[in-house]
Amino acid sequence: MKPNWKHFYPQIKTAVLNLDSLDLLLQQAVEKIAALFQAECLLWSGLEFGIADTLRVVTTQEVATRYAASLGFAYPPPPIVCAGDPHHAVKLFRPRSLPLWLLDQQSSPHLLQLETGDLIVPVTNRGSFFEPDSAGFAIANSLQFVLQVIRPPQSQSGNFSADPTDPDWVNRPHESSAPLNDSATFDWVPSPVPGGTALKTPPTIQGWSIAELESLEIVCSQLGLAYSALYWRQRLEQSRQQSALVGRISRLLNSTLNPDEIVSRIGAELGTGLQVDRSVLVDLRYDPANILSVWDHPDCELAPLDQRQIRQSYWQNVIDMFMQGGSSYLQMSLNEAKADPLQVWIEDVGAQSVLVVPLFVQGEFFGGVVLLSYRQDRSYLIDELQTVRQVADQAAIALTNAQHYQRLWRKQEALRIQNNSLQWAILRDELTQLMNRRSLERELEQLSMGAIWSIHPPFCVIACDIDYFKYVNDAHGHLVGDEVLQEIAKRLQGQLRRGTPAYRYGGEEFMIILTDTPLNQAVDVAERLRWAVRSTPFVTRAGHLEITASFGVAQQNLTCDHNAWDVLQRADSALYEAKRTGRDRVYALEASIRG
Ligand code: GH3
Ligand code: MG
Ligand code: MG
Repeated sequence: MKPNWKHFYPQIKTAVLNLDSLDLLLQQAVEKIAALFQAECLLWSGLEFGIADTLRVVTTQEVATRYAASLGFAYPPPPIVCAGDPHHAVKLFRPRSLPLWLLDQQSSPHLLQLETGDLIVPVTNRGSFFEPDSAGFAIANSLQFVLQVIRPPQSQSGNFSADPTDPDWVNRPHESSAPLNDSATFDWVPSPVPGGTALKTPPTIQGWSIAELESLEIVCSQLGLAYSALYWRQRLEQSRQQSALVGRISRLLNSTLNPDEIVSRIGAELGTGLQVDRSVLVDLRYDPANILSVWDHPDCELAPLDQRQIRQSYWQNVIDMFMQGGSSYLQMSLNEAKADPLQVWIEDVGAQSVLVVPLFVQGEFFGGVVLLSYRQDRSYLIDELQTVRQVADQAAIALTNAQHYQRLWRKQEALRIQNNSLQWAILRDELTQLMNRRSLERELEQLSMGAIWSIHPPFCVIACDIDYFKYVNDAHGHLVGDEVLQEIAKRLQGQLRRGTPAYRYGGEEFMIILTDTPLNQAVDVAERLRWAVRSTPFVTRAGHLEITASFGVAQQNLTCDHNAWDVLQRADSALYEAKRTGRDRVYALEASIRG
């Protein structure tokens, strides 16, 4: 039985219909060719893109073991080098170098027999295709893949291949009509380097019958067609999925204003859509970086990123590159011989490869979308990169909106409270009519939300406590004390802008949150408040009382504060200092960096 295309057809058809991976299609094809032609095979694929990342060698086990070192790939192969079935008998590798004859094939594909006897069957793309990434239209008839068939001498005496009495058994003239060699005496010596020097113009193809060569050529060209069909079906399917993904994200942006929900959903959509193991949205402006969201593939049990792993030093080169506008993305894998701290990071987190796409919020560098692959060394097609880019832009819009969202939330909150008497009762302090502690806690929670937390400019907290208030109570009674509390509340609120509430935090302690205000201005506001209290005596049923208060001010500092309660805590410590150093004063506490 002569091997022919019919033997392959059902398998190839199933692969195309099932949208199997291209790697799997090639694995199956190599296995089948090896069995039908009783030969060892190497298939060089991914040549058409001219990118080292896409290069693959698909080989039968035997060849893999024998030639791994000389072909520049590690053997046994790293656990998961690329998609396809890792348990398949036919293996996939990523070569680190190409043999010379293969480079020749790239410029002029032609059937060839190497000195070693290996048969080289190139398969080309008919027609041209467009790669937006490259200089434009790629070369017509570019190499799609190359099959290298290595036939051991014993199989030359097989039932169809090496019988010199077979009428088909001739040394097929190739490009010349040089005298035929005696195929039976062909000396097949496995070369340690299968990619040895090519015979420039081989006079003959030895050891193969015409029928075999023809059928091999047909099988290869049909495989090429199947490969193209599968490739384009996959590209179509991918682009359909990617536009659906971008569509889902824009709907998401229109459906919720909660920035935390937006960043976490964006992370999940990207992770699922691009089949990565972990997707992270990270604010890289501070040290350590601030992780806004992490999505992990449900099949992966990954250790959380720890504080050490988000140190900015790992990212500095990448940040510099993005800031200088050097690139719109960065791909890096563990195996690459590049000395970059990010490579150390990849190793440290236990991943195989990473893709980083920068995020710019209102023209300023903000951070990145980081896609990590732990189970395979993942490379991305240009369409996929464009999708991540588009999604990163949308995430940037979401983060910009977050800046406005917070202000909007405050306004809405104030309105909601005004319009809802029940809420009013819950969130107001009865005695002073200021917002109460519960309301302050809601505000602190809002400010601590991941996506809002690191948005510029930082906010400040002013803490205020009446001086010697116990004395007022003791000397004049609680009712007078209450009058003082009511009057001080009026004076504090009277000094603040509309929409900036003063909160009654405890007995005679008040808090004010100033968003969009740097520390020096917050100190000015606190001075104004102090003056408003001390400048005019309080009119009470017990007469005019001189009252003073002390103030502590602190500014949010992303390097040491983890949430808004941390800032409040520091404002309270500043207040304690104001008391300790004499009262009736404003004390601002600089953040001390935590170790
Ligand atoms: P300092 O300058 O150190 O703050 O001295 P202080 O006397 O103000 O000390 P402290 O802040 O500890 O005193 C708080 C007092 O406030 C004690 C408590 O009786 C009084 N207080 C708390 N809530 C109320 C209230 O609702 N009405 C009245 N009249 N007094 C209150
Ligand atoms: Mg007090
Ligand atoms: Mg007090």
